Amino acid sequence: MMSQKSLIQNDVIELNNLNQQNKDNIYNLPNFNPQIINQKYLDTLGVVVQPDEITLKKLEMGSSTFIKQLQTRSLIPEPRLTEMDIPVETPLPVHNYTSTGHCPGNILELNPVQGCNVGCLYCLVTDGKHNQPLVAFKNYPKYVRSHLEANKDKRYWYYLSAKTEAFQEPTLETGIVHNILLEFIQHYEKHPDSPARLYLVTKAGTKQLLFKHQGNSILDLLSEIPDRVQYNPSIGLMPETVRIILEPYAAPIQERLDAVLLCQQVGIDSNSVLAQPIIGPYLSLETMSDYFSKIKSANIINYKPEFLTLCMENLAMIGQIIGYFDRALEKSIYEQYIAHDNQNHRKQRERTAPHKTFSYAKLMELKEVGESFGLTMSVCFWVREQIDLAKDLPVINNNGFCCDFPLWNRFRVPNHT
Ligand code: SF4
Repeated sequence: MMSQKSLIQNDVIELNNLNQQNKDNIYNLPNFNPQIINQKYLDTLGVVVQPDEITLKKLEMGSSTFIKQLQTRSLIPEPRLTEMDIPVETPLPVHNYTSTGHCPGNILELNPVQGCNVGCLYCLVTDGKHNQPLVAFKNYPKYVRSHLEANKDKRYWYYLSAKTEAFQEPTLETGIVHNILLEFIQHYEKHPDSPARLYLVTKAGTKQLLFKHQGNSILDLLSEIPDRVQYNPSIGLMPETVRIILEPYAAPIQERLDAVLLCQQVGIDSNSVLAQPIIGPYLSLETMSDYFSKIKSANIINYKPEFLTLCMENLAMIGQIIGYFDRALEKSIYEQYIAHDNQNHRKQRERTAPHKTFSYAKLMELKEVGESFGLTMSVCFWVREQIDLAKDLPVINNNGFCCDFPLWNRFRVPNHT
């Protein structure tokens, strides 16, 4: 682990957010008046499942924090950045969220920023807390260079970025991410046979891909190494009215799909969506069809569904935002998560998945509707195990995708190109 003391701090940089229009959404909801979620609140809402004492306590704590953060306007990131150096000897984390024993061990994380300026209120990394200052590692390109060189004969995938957004203002406006891509380009010039590959999972849109630093856009740089890159858009399933609150600085969905088309035009492998988060109460045949129709318009052939997973404190926030628009759906989201017998259904840390019965039924519906659009589904091993999908889904599907990593198949399934 890196020591904070070993970091060298520079001045604060003011950021110009590309999706500035959404910055006040959460603070300006007319008549939004969050409450403390306790047993009485759940009873009034008509919630029929029974949470245990610990779950109730966490819901109460989460509501109390939410109310304070709303009052102090500290729910979404401040557009201010500090640059620091990361010690070059810091190892790259192996990306392996779960303990199934099936996750590939050759995926290394690149996380050039601590924190994330996209500011998702359900953030999978911070559990929706964005009150820490943003820090970018200005020597990250050099750090990447040293790892690429040291691993030049290894079949590693470099995951940009597992714990933050790769193409966000802190990496774009500083040019850090452009320079990381330049390091990959130079690495392949020096080692044409290098097996290193770049795996991108991103909420970026066209604005982000066309963002220039020293004359080069992200797309220009990616187009130098198209056959070494897998580009996966991350697109959740929820109504747009809710999305612009939950993902304040993320690119609009259409811009993300247009970014996919730009990647495809320059020959980058970009045909699978990370469908994350899927918010249970919004799942219906109509919303599923709408979702698949949209992603299909960008030539997507596969999707990996990830239901919203969250800790109970975060649920107190997300539930009340959903309830602002529709109280019946607020009731439904609590019922999907808080039952006593669902409290061990955790993917990482305290992040709880929806009840297994619900998850199984909805995944089967998604599969059926997706297939009617000609799309395949690939599912995380942890999910397969938890809800016993072995009989319903092959590990490697008809389009050659396996779990989160179609790229992994490239090393294991020769017919997937
Ligand atoms: S883009 Fe990812 S890392 Fe960034 S705030 Fe959203 S969920 Fe968190």
